[in-house]
Amino acid sequence: MNIRLFNTLTKRIDAFSPLDPSRVRMYSCGPTVYDVAHIGNMRAFLLPDLLQRTLRVVGGFDVSWVMNITDIDDKTIRDSAVGSEKWRPEMGTQTTDALANLKMLTAFYAEEFHRDLASFNIVKKHFAAQPLATDYIPQMQALINDIMSSGYAYVSEGSVYFNVSAYAKRHEYGRLFAIDKENFREGVRIDADEYDRESVSDFVLWKARKDGEPYWDYDVNGTNLPGRPGWHIECSAMSKEILGLPFDIHTGGVDLRFPHHEDELAQCTAGYHEHDQATFWVHNEFLEVEGKKMSKSLGNFYTMRDLVAKGIDPLDVRYAMLQAHYRSVYNFTFDIVQGATTARKKIQDYVYDVKERSSFVEREAEGADPVAARVLRTTVFTELADDLHTPKALAALFSFMSQHSAAMLSPEEALSVLGVLSDINDVLAVFEISDRPVVIIPDNVSAIAQARWAARTAKDWSESDRLRADLTALGWTMNDGKDSFTLEPTL
Ligand code: AMP
Ligand code: ZN
Repeated sequence: MNIRLFNTLTKRIDAFSPLDPSRVRMYSCGPTVYDVAHIGNMRAFLLPDLLQRTLRVVGGFDVSWVMNITDIDDKTIRDSAVGSEKWRPEMGTQTTDALANLKMLTAFYAEEFHRDLASFNIVKKHFAAQPLATDYIPQMQALINDIMSSGYAYVSEGSVYFNVSAYAKRHEYGRLFAIDKENFREGVRIDADEYDRESVSDFVLWKARKDGEPYWDYDVNGTNLPGRPGWHIECSAMSKEILGLPFDIHTGGVDLRFPHHEDELAQCTAGYHEHDQATFWVHNEFLEVEGKKMSKSLGNFYTMRDLVAKGIDPLDVRYAMLQAHYRSVYNFTFDIVQGATTARKKIQDYVYDVKERSSFVEREAEGADPVAARVLRTTVFTELADDLHTPKALAALFSFMSQHSAAMLSPEEALSVLGVLSDINDVLAVFEISDRPVVIIPDNVSAIAQARWAARTAKDWSESDRLRADLTALGWTMNDGKDSFTLEPTL
């Protein structure tokens, strides 16, 4: 199926096709590993996962997906210098070697990051590479040399800066994010990795060594400039080295459009003479909490760990995020996650029912393509192919489920529907194709449930409530039907 995506570069929805028909090459800006991921970051990692899954399953492409790990920047340097019990395996391991300390901090948080990804069903086998910035210093230095040779970079006090005004005279600066040339502060240099569009200045490519910081030697025309890379140069050099330029898709959160992605693009044009670093730029909108920007000072800042500690299943959070389109601001609330738990369970129950029904197939019919399965595939995949419209895809799935109960399907139909559900889950990754787990109910639990049902039938509500509390304490949930009840282990 043809896939259409909103492209920040063209500012419209474009039909997607890869430059090399045999595979899609995609680069995602990954985490800065100085702390554990917050739920906003998870939204930015979910987008490329959803995209690469859609490209493979709906588009039929092979995908080479690269997500870098920023292990050297202002924040990792700052925190590795301080040291922390959290990441120091044992007290006293911190050394006087700044680079060794940086590696210790970032290795610890990279491991935590992988754990968070796995909990979100973002799995290792889908990545072609997860490069560390510190492994690509020579490539970054070579790119800076090339930018200097092109006349768009200069040395000042041991650092190297990108000359934005010189570049903007010959090339467009502001291709991803509208920038008013009035805001160009010619000749002003900025060393911080992050800055706003009101202060477009010459940004740093290579930062001169500061006391106590990790550094690399860098020979520029016979002069050594010990220092370390700026943040933006990292992604330009790594994406070129691993994927080659131009590649197909570059992803990140909307905040990265400027300056990070604009600067990546300018560096690639200036140094590699590639007009387009990537042909498609795909950005996710931000996540807010209870309608407000997430921030530690507002007390509405959550990491994945915080949610797990509250007993929330990360896959319910994944599902909740899929209920919104990636280009709209996502409002995270605990009520929404609760709703996601219920919805996800409904789908899972449906899968169990369809799986059970399919087990009655005696002989798989050759080339059978029952209408129901075709309807399910077409309606759900059409929405995913339309700029990853997951809310509409989920609506299509629910509409199908309500119109095709498992009991209505013939075993053969159930088998083909199960195949489509499996493909849908290859994209959404929020349920599992398996048999309904066999639940063994202990005798004492069964006895309490029987007693409670009797109390309820006799309208003895206080006794009924007391017995329900007993069941809860034993880890069981009793679901009351009209004429009977079911028991299930509390999640
Ligand atoms: P960082 O680890 O800070 O470099 O951020 C990693 C990714 O998370 C980037 O793509 C950011 O754009 C993205 N990001 C940061 N905060 C949020 C948020 N509140 N909502 C969505 N994405 C975010
Ligand atoms: Zn990046």
